[in-house]
Amino acid sequence: MALSTLAQSQVRPVGSPNGLRIAFVNVQWGDGIVIVGPTGTCMVFDGGPNGMGTQAMVPAMKKLGVSRIRYVVASHYHGDHIGGIDEVMNALPFDEVWDRGTRNTSGFAGSYTTYVNAAGSKRKTVSLGQVFDLGGGAKATVLAYDGNVLGSSTRHAIDSTSNYENSASIVVRVDYGDFSCWLGGDLTGGGSRYDMETPVSRVCGDVDVYLANHHGWDDGSNQNLLDTIDPEVCVISCSHKNTHNVPHRATLDRMSTTTKNRLVISTTPGAGEPGFTSGGTMLLATDGWRYTISSETGASVELYTDEFAGNTPTPGDLVISEFQREPSFFWGEYIEVFNRSGSPINLRGLVVRANNGSFEVAAPYRLLPRRSLLLAQHGDASRNGGLPFAHSWPARAVILHDDADNIEVAHGSKSLERVSYGSGFAGGLGKAAERVDVEIGAASNNFETATRTYGSKDYGTPGAANSVASPLAWPLRVGVERLDAATPGGGALHFFESTNRWTGKVIALGLSLGKTPGIPVGPTLIPLRADALFAIVDGAPGFVGVVPPEGLQAIRLPIPKNSGLTGLPAFCACYIYDPKGPPFVPEASDAVRFVFP
Ligand SMILES: [Zn+2]
Repeated sequence: MALSTLAQSQVRPVGSPNGLRIAFVNVQWGDGIVIVGPTGTCMVFDGGPNGMGTQAMVPAMKKLGVSRIRYVVASHYHGDHIGGIDEVMNALPFDEVWDRGTRNTSGFAGSYTTYVNAAGSKRKTVSLGQVFDLGGGAKATVLAYDGNVLGSSTRHAIDSTSNYENSASIVVRVDYGDFSCWLGGDLTGGGSRYDMETPVSRVCGDVDVYLANHHGWDDGSNQNLLDTIDPEVCVISCSHKNTHNVPHRATLDRMSTTTKNRLVISTTPGAGEPGFTSGGTMLLATDGWRYTISSETGASVELYTDEFAGNTPTPGDLVISEFQREPSFFWGEYIEVFNRSGSPINLRGLVVRANNGSFEVAAPYRLLPRRSLLLAQHGDASRNGGLPFAHSWPARAVILHDDADNIEVAHGSKSLERVSYGSGFAGGLGKAAERVDVEIGAASNNFETATRTYGSKDYGTPGAANSVASPLAWPLRVGVERLDAATPGGGALHFFESTNRWTGKVIALGLSLGKTPGIPVGPTLIPLRADALFAIVDGAPGFVGVVPPEGLQAIRLPIPKNSGLTGLPAFCACYIYDPKGPPFVPEASDAVRFVFP
């Protein structure tokens, strides 16, 4: 019987993404990227300007446990990309150094000469379609270099255009499972420069993460590129208060629009334009179907790759847990959304509306049960009043009215929730309105004025538990995340158990093919059927655990290929029980239906 294959499955907790890691190092003005494959193979793609190799790149590599560099790649020969490479090569052993070759290099001195000398005999020229093996199934593929584009034998006439050195940048696409990322140095996209972005983006195709060409300069990140590679996350590497006004307003407006509000994140606050998040050195980690991005402050967000559909929110799943409508800081408005359902929710397609505008989130955030996400007018903590890591909506797309407004969250045509405020509503100047109980509706009497301060001086608890909420009991809930057989790592079911009432108590997950008539245990009915499936998992290792202090437990049940279960519908429920003494179940969750992947 197919069900018996489950008995051999190794159930274990769902951990953090473990596989490919990419550090976008804060090298101030320049690019410096460290990539570490699943088996430890390291690639350095650009090394920042002079001094930053020693100051920023080497410490970042040590943090990642790198002791040897397999590949050094120089995107092109400007000092903000190769200035620090010799420092990296002097600090750690390296095997191969790859660049665009020696065409048009006679005028270069300084950083270029130092780079050439440090690379010595290990220096080689890349070729189109060349694959850098990063181990464990991860790779980086050369799509373009020095005017050559994969799939064409005609070299683009970049030499006579202005700033051809930027146009000559090497472009690689990094892949691991369903995750993909564009790295392209200072590739140019038009205006007075040669448009290399349009042809290269066509051979690249869709990616998840885009390292902005040329630090967010308006001569890169053209509309063709953004439409074609359609990233969910744009990363910008530039210096704080730079004199080039980068990232440029026009670039940010292309990257993040009201109908496609991507996560735009920069190593520094740049020159002062609003509408993106700044995070210092950022570490990305992926297991091929999801990825986390952690900022230098330790804040972290998790996203799905764009191949993963996940659970879309339905009314009641996602609520507005807090908002700041009249901050002391001009860019300090925020709206906090909270997942009160039992399952992770994919926030891609979330629409946020106020009376004067709206935006639709394009970043596929994986919002776990009982966790919140902060959406903010601006993601720069130095200008938003000191908010923790916040997703920035397009600048001015929504401006909350100080006195009266309607905030609505929706998904597609479904309205999820609406909060209407007017005179007498909680919050006000420098004070957020906090929801008292997420389990009940958004009426005005369920909001109170925040009593604790954050960041600079305003009142609120952005991204954290509300100050006005007493620790109310959460109902015991179960949720499911389905990973089909094509998901990197294989087919699996992730079950989520959430409750704060039974911390330290024993919790069990039950599965069955039907949910009636239910299994009575004393006064409690476990809404499952005592059938063959129930018997297999009842008390099995991994299905029984202890409620952790944070109140959320996630366990992974791998479903082997050809299990014979694919498409079979079933139910899950979790329940608290006392392993000592007579059978006693003080609480059981509702049953949730799922289909085997
Ligand atoms: Zn540059």
